[in-house]
Amino acid sequence: MEEGVIKFDLQYTEADPPSARTLAELNAWRRILWQLALIGQDPDRYGGYGFGNISQRIPPLDAPAGKRQFVISGTQTGGLETLGAAHYSRIERYDPQANRVVAEGPVRPSSESLTHGMLYDLDTNIHAILHVHSPHIWQHASALDIPVTDAAVAYGTPEMAQEAGRLFRETDVLHKGIFSMGGHEDGIVAFGTTPGEAGSILLLALAKSYSL
Ligand SMILES: [Zn+2]
Repeated sequence: MEEGVIKFDLQYTEADPPSARTLAELNAWRRILWQLALIGQDPDRYGGYGFGNISQRIPPLDAPAGKRQFVISGTQTGGLETLGAAHYSRIERYDPQANRVVAEGPVRPSSESLTHGMLYDLDTNIHAILHVHSPHIWQHASALDIPVTDAAVAYGTPEMAQEAGRLFRETDVLHKGIFSMGGHEDGIVAFGTTPGEAGSILLLALAKSYSL
């Protein structure tokens, strides 16, 4: 599955960046993930496209599905060691079935924004999502007892929303806070109530994969 290509209908308006305070914890984790090459850009990986993206809900946290606003790293920022507020976009609305995202900010949002929105719709306790690429966790997902989405379902499609919904119904993924994307090479998603919770789950899984 190709990284970096926006497959949804994006309605984007240029606007001011999110506040640095809003982004502080998320951006700190982004830096750690970049240092571990879980987010990055490498001519030898995924056709040279940037990979990995992160997001966090912003108020109102009781918003209904489809309107659970969040900040997310901008498209093709994977190669940058550190990000500033100018590298983040705000998602205002999203509709997985219509394959549509409405965003504003100083930069266009990640090509995987719709997937983040669809995950926020699955449970109101999910407030942060880290999507990284880890060959180690991905290859050992079953040994690590990490739920895996159907390899036949392409990432970033309306079908993926249904597949993620199935995973939430049929496995304990909500409790685990991590799953592997069967049809998206090395793709791992960790989530939690904070970036720190999601990041801790991810790093524990990485350590376990190294110990196998
Ligand atoms: Zn990816």
